[in-house]
Amino acid sequence: MTKPKKKSALSEKEGVSNPENISDNSISKLKHKRKKQPTPEELSAAIISGDKVALSRAITLIESTNPDHTQKANKIIEACLPYANNSVRLGITGVPGVGKSTFIESFGSYLTTKGKKVAVLAVDPSSSISKGSILGDKTRMEELVKNENAFIRPSPSGDSLGGVARKTRETIILCEACGFDTIIIETVGVGQSETAVHSMVDFFLLLKLAGAGDELQGIKRGIMEMADAILINKADGDNIGRAKQAKIEFTRALHLYPPKENGWIPKVLTASAIENKGIEKTWQLIVKFINHSQSNDSFNRKRAQQNKQWLLQTINERLKSSFYNHPTIKERLKNQLDLLENNKVSPFAAAEYLFKIYIQE
Ligand code: GDP
Repeated sequence: MTKPKKKSALSEKEGVSNPENISDNSISKLKHKRKKQPTPEELSAAIISGDKVALSRAITLIESTNPDHTQKANKIIEACLPYANNSVRLGITGVPGVGKSTFIESFGSYLTTKGKKVAVLAVDPSSSISKGSILGDKTRMEELVKNENAFIRPSPSGDSLGGVARKTRETIILCEACGFDTIIIETVGVGQSETAVHSMVDFFLLLKLAGAGDELQGIKRGIMEMADAILINKADGDNIGRAKQAKIEFTRALHLYPPKENGWIPKVLTASAIENKGIEKTWQLIVKFINHSQSNDSFNRKRAQQNKQWLLQTINERLKSSFYNHPTIKERLKNQLDLLENNKVSPFAAAEYLFKIYIQE
């Protein structure tokens, strides 16, 4: 398989925004605000009016670990919530090199020609685990990033997938409030990142290559099952025949899975991201899916279910971090780990002991 070029914009550490697109009004506002940090109220009002610079700033607050920033971010999210939810959320996954960023560049540009506003986010927990990113460093989707109606934000860093996922979910809300009606979330199959992305989108697209076995493509069990569509990319040149054959095989393979609860039958398409082929067909399929799931109300049910999951996962995250950051727990946990190593305590007794301290203090 071709080694992926580091092409994706999604792991840059800075938010991407295009100064050329800022109106004079917002430039002067920003000049003024450089001296004085904008308040959460000012930022949320600017976001709701469609200001991408304000959006970038607010996302930086979401991503910060400073408690003061978190508090501000929470206020902004609260203010933006009534303006959120009016979008189609798409998840895109596939192994490195399959063509995700090339596809998103082409697909995103196509959508903007149809009058859509497209935000591209990423969930890439690899960057925090290995300090290197699978989605790519320091480069960008060169065309899309310049597009006035697009917004590209790299993966937030975080010490856990849960942390990265929470920040991405909050970012979705702000992007929607800012007027982005199509949210694309890209991920690679690291840890449980597909599951995390699947739990925050309406439609999940799996990119594949023809002629490579699942083992070669690093596709884990369960991902085929999550997909609402499979797109065989690089269907161009000598590869067209193989792509058509792969389409038949994947269609057959998908029939082996139990039917989806929402009654949708996943489809297989071929595309060439680099030649802009199959892009329109992909969008038409997504529109069909949205119409299907809105007509049987599974669209809203899924979102309601995802909201519940977000609430529970946020509680889990908060509990975990409050436990491990508790000063007494930090100190005693170290002791208990030493005792455990010397067989002086069982793991269960140690956990019980620490938990009692935690709830008493
Ligand atoms: P990602 O790692 O999944 O984001 O993959 P990239 O978008 O960076 O693409 C990896 C490589 O495949 C790059 O060299 C692309 O130019 C190439 N590529 C992407 N899409 C296509 C396609 O449709 N056809 C062909 N022939 N090459 C492609």
